[in-house]
Amino acid sequence: MAEIDRMLEANEKWAQRFPGSKPVRPGRAVAVVACMDARMPLFQLLGLEVGDAHVIRNAGGVITEDTIRSLTISQHLLGTREVVLVHHTDCGLEKSDDVSFGDLVEQATGRRPPWAPRFFTDVDDDVRESMRLIRDSPYLLSHEVRGTVYDVETGRIREIKDPAAPHHS
Ligand code: ZN
Repeated sequence: MAEIDRMLEANEKWAQRFPGSKPVRPGRAVAVVACMDARMPLFQLLGLEVGDAHVIRNAGGVITEDTIRSLTISQHLLGTREVVLVHHTDCGLEKSDDVSFGDLVEQATGRRPPWAPRFFTDVDDDVRESMRLIRDSPYLLSHEVRGTVYDVETGRIREIKDPAAPHHS
């Protein structure tokens, strides 16, 4: 547990330049769902400031029951209306498959996870699948969603066109 000490120190510096409190509702009424990848500084790469957006992250940036839980709270209680997805190149979720990963965990721990790890083979397809899951969710107030892939080699994001989108060409 050495990293926490460095973080506490860094936080001391952050607190000294703290820009002041912000409203709880995201100023730009947007929620970003993204992979947990360590190479994606989402606020910087999307031009977001403190207070602008909700950021929901998990391995792969996939739409799980818990992602929908967060988005539902984000929309019903905190006023967000757009969803932006950020997947990326060279994702860890392309480097195995659900069965092999289940085997790996079971061999190491004796227990097989009951949840699907959600590996994928084509990142563009996974973005389209994620957009579909958001559009199909019955709990959201807004189904406005657009999806992107971030290139970890160039820093650029590329929008994934979604032929199934209702009003999006
Ligand atoms: Zn990833």
